[in-house]
Amino acid sequence: MIMTYLAVPIKVTNIDQAKKAVVKAVAAGAEMIELRLDYGENIQNREVEIIIGLVKQTGLPCIVTCRPDWEGGGYKGGEDERKDLLKHSLTVGTDYVDVELKAWQGGWGGFDKDKVILSNHDFAKLPDDFDKRLEKISLGKTGIGKIAYRAERISDIFPALDELHRGSSGMIALAMGEVGVATRLLAKKLGGFLTFASLEEGEDSAPGQVTIREMKETYLWDAINAGTKVYGVIGCPVGHSLSPLIHNRAFKETGYNGLYMPLLVDGMEQEFCLFMEGVIKRKWLDFRGLSVTIPHKKYALRFVKEKGGGVEPLAEKIGAVNTLLIDEEGKVSGYNTDYAGAIDAITETMGIVKEDLKGVYVAILGAGGVARALAAALTDVGAKVTIYNRTVEKARRLAEQFECEWAGREGLQSLDVKLVINCTSIGMFPKVDASPIEGKYLKKDMVVFDTVYNPMETKLLRESREVGAATVDGVSMFVNQAALQFEMFTGIKAPKEVMRQIIRGEK
Ligand code: NAP
Repeated sequence: MIMTYLAVPIKVTNIDQAKKAVVKAVAAGAEMIELRLDYGENIQNREVEIIIGLVKQTGLPCIVTCRPDWEGGGYKGGEDERKDLLKHSLTVGTDYVDVELKAWQGGWGGFDKDKVILSNHDFAKLPDDFDKRLEKISLGKTGIGKIAYRAERISDIFPALDELHRGSSGMIALAMGEVGVATRLLAKKLGGFLTFASLEEGEDSAPGQVTIREMKETYLWDAINAGTKVYGVIGCPVGHSLSPLIHNRAFKETGYNGLYMPLLVDGMEQEFCLFMEGVIKRKWLDFRGLSVTIPHKKYALRFVKEKGGGVEPLAEKIGAVNTLLIDEEGKVSGYNTDYAGAIDAITETMGIVKEDLKGVYVAILGAGGVARALAAALTDVGAKVTIYNRTVEKARRLAEQFECEWAGREGLQSLDVKLVINCTSIGMFPKVDASPIEGKYLKKDMVVFDTVYNPMETKLLRESREVGAATVDGVSMFVNQAALQFEMFTGIKAPKEVMRQIIRGEK
């Protein structure tokens, strides 16, 4: 069986600090330790021996690295001293030493080749001569090869993934930076030699490293294997998205073999399409579904249509696809779970079915993307919708498209509707003291739905409850749309209560 190690780098500064870090790494579930000697001041052979001894006592394999400043590390001493330090590390029992390709080519001899990780790094970009560098690494004929570079754009991850796919267990290939996270997460599925995870936030030895805790708790490292199906959220930004946590935990809860990753697609339609083409072409990646968020929803719709895939009619009417499914043949189809999640949240609270919304008077506040999805869904079932927006022209255009009424925000003063839906960002963190409508215009027999989910209880919802109105919060919508996506992705009933608890921070 191929083993992909979860390796934790420890920046060694002295024996005591290293000892504590090793204990912590073992407790966190590290499967390999990398001792970085280039962070300490003048570390001597005797100290190296003690620290390697500490790692050996844990039973974990050990790598020793002393990265010179000319390859992005912290070591400023002479090359002979550095070489001696690494050789001594092998003598006293480390399993591997990391030697830079440049040093190796410069004539570093006398190493047990099987114990050498021959490495090359580019901290600026995907190198133009990527293939040449790989060839040189392979010509070194050492036990393990390593290539690492900074990914500037999402499609830069593919060369590393291709190499993992091709090179199997004797290879470490990774893209650094936030964009490259997928290469770190997929290393185990693709059977790479290891992936690095930092001990704590801020302790990373290279940009984009995920903490070991996140690796295990959010990305379910222990459960990943060659058969894992792959999912993710495409957006910009995606760093704070709750989707990876909610979907991965739902996979765990249901025993589904899936991995869901953040995919930062920083760019417009061209970047989106380049990434999608790359995914579809590589069937062995096993991408089966994607969540799509700002600003890519309209690109996702166009992409599916251009590929001749099916688009859910209402998603087409809304002009936005937030869910992509990819079948085994690489065929894509597009859906929108935003509107369905919102409608479910409303009907669940009102104790009705969707069709009962026919003829119900609704005020939609806002005329952005969410307002658009709700206007489409509500007019589709025959609700009587009026759109109120700060920029009146936008309200008019939206209303004309979906054949409903429109007004400026002053119209809210004479509000006479059953259902009020806030689709603006007013009331969202940090401006939690704001509300899109004055409390005095809210009535007891109304149902008030705030799509804002941070905070969960907005000023609008608080004031609505105070007058006795029924309320629907944004968390319900968020959970519903994620649950619908989960069901499309897996064919399994979504563990909605667990998903809700995760969003509330209760699990
Ligand atoms: P969007 O396209 O940027 O639209 C924002 C809307 O809010 C526009 O109509 C804008 O009016 C209005 N607005 C913003 N600031 C305002 C202010 N200070 N005064 C008056 N109007 C203001 O955003 P979106 O994608 O539709 O998202 C809207 C909100 O929905 C988000 O803030 C988020 O909280 C919520 N949301 C919830 C979920 C969920 O699952 N629960 C999912 C997505 C989004 P103008 O046209 O005049 O600029």
